[in-house]
Amino acid sequence: MTDLHRLSIRELSEGLAGSKFSSRELTEHYLKRIAKIDAQVQSYVTVTPEQALAQADAADALRKSGMANVLTGVPVAHKDIFCTQGIKTTAGSKILDNFISPYDATVVAKGKVAGLVTLGKVNMDEFAMGSTSESSYFGATKNPWALDHVPGGSSGGSAAAVAADLAPFATGTDTGGSIRQPASFCGLTGLKPTYGRVSRFGMIAYASSLDQGGPMARSAEDCAYLMNVMAGHDERDSTSVNVDADDYVANLNSTSVKGLRIGIPKQYFNVAGLDADVKSRVEESLKKLEDMGATLVEIDLNMTDAYVPTYYLIAPAEASSNLQRFDGVRYGYRCENPVDLTDLYKRSRSEGFGPEVQRRILIGTYALSAGYYDAYYVKAQKVRRLIQQDFLKAFESVDVIAAPSAPTTAYKIGASLDPVEMYLGDIYTIAVNLAGLPAINAPVGFDKDQLPVGLQLIGNYWSESQLLSVVHQYQQATDWHTKRAAIAEETV
Ligand code: GLN
Repeated sequence: MTDLHRLSIRELSEGLAGSKFSSRELTEHYLKRIAKIDAQVQSYVTVTPEQALAQADAADALRKSGMANVLTGVPVAHKDIFCTQGIKTTAGSKILDNFISPYDATVVAKGKVAGLVTLGKVNMDEFAMGSTSESSYFGATKNPWALDHVPGGSSGGSAAAVAADLAPFATGTDTGGSIRQPASFCGLTGLKPTYGRVSRFGMIAYASSLDQGGPMARSAEDCAYLMNVMAGHDERDSTSVNVDADDYVANLNSTSVKGLRIGIPKQYFNVAGLDADVKSRVEESLKKLEDMGATLVEIDLNMTDAYVPTYYLIAPAEASSNLQRFDGVRYGYRCENPVDLTDLYKRSRSEGFGPEVQRRILIGTYALSAGYYDAYYVKAQKVRRLIQQDFLKAFESVDVIAAPSAPTTAYKIGASLDPVEMYLGDIYTIAVNLAGLPAINAPVGFDKDQLPVGLQLIGNYWSESQLLSVVHQYQQATDWHTKRAAIAEETV
């Protein structure tokens, strides 16, 4: 079969169960595509053909013995932020270029239990700091829809791999939009779950109170399958919630769009820098949801202006603390010939971290320093609470809140936005992380340059099933999610 990459996760599951093809055939097919196409996209940092084929053979054997799960033998790509035993985990950084984790992240371990076959590790902004994937030490990943454009970030490798049909689905992480924005830039569906829904154990920390893993795929249905693997309590993550996860696949039709109250924040559609095409596509998608029976309700989110400054104090503050562990002593990059311990720390970190990571460590250290702690960090925490309360108040009158995922479509590679310009591009995604809420991106059309546009739906706590279900209904009624980049049409 030459078109295995066109099949949805449900079709892959059914095809494997019905012996239409084996996991080995499917895995070989994806590995062939990666070998042929990924030189142009550069979505993978590490491809693991030998391990993948061994896992595929084990999956096929399990099937024969009648012990297979729904996803046994289905391939996946993991963001290079999830620790993988025996396979390099770099977080997109020179400082971890030689790091092989002695254990698997819980998300990776759960994938193995579910029978997923790991194709490899995909590229990302260094330590997940960025919105373009250009800050990776391993070079920029390309957007499959236009190879001179970025795929977004930080989970740009995950998005590009799926959009170029180099993986059927992929794991991502979202600290301030890193699942939703690349999904938006690459025409995919991506879910950022409620904080605490997916284990952070073995997921390299950026800003621990904001970080959350989630699925990136071609449809809400495909995301639901991966969410069933990723979600759940983990006693090794103290912030993991001890509440059973839903069956997201079974719940795909659990919420009707009919009667759904969708909040439209006044402030969001007047943001300076909101691209006219993005605005139009998002409004058209909301009109479609309205035609399907939803009610649009104008709401106020008064704290909108505070999102970017609040996030860009809290996230760097936590990052400066989390990244202290990379000191050139225990693991990772170490500078040549240090003269003493201070020199070893200084040079290992200066040579090992890229400029954006160093900038954030400096901002964070400053915000946490004795003289400024109250003025910046403590104040940001107070504003964070107000942002959360703003959302909770809105959820008293609406079921979900709609927004663009990003004010623009994908940027050109090397557009060299200054850091503040780039931070402003996070306006629609970061408040969700500050509040700990779940949110989803769904593709809703294209701009004048044929670059994908995304709609974001934000839900109340633990409403992942509802978000997936609403997007699933929308995708039953539209076909934006079935559009493929030309490069994904290439056969091997
Ligand atoms: N672009 C945001 C940042 O640079 C979000 C990144 C993320 O979610 N990891 O911090």
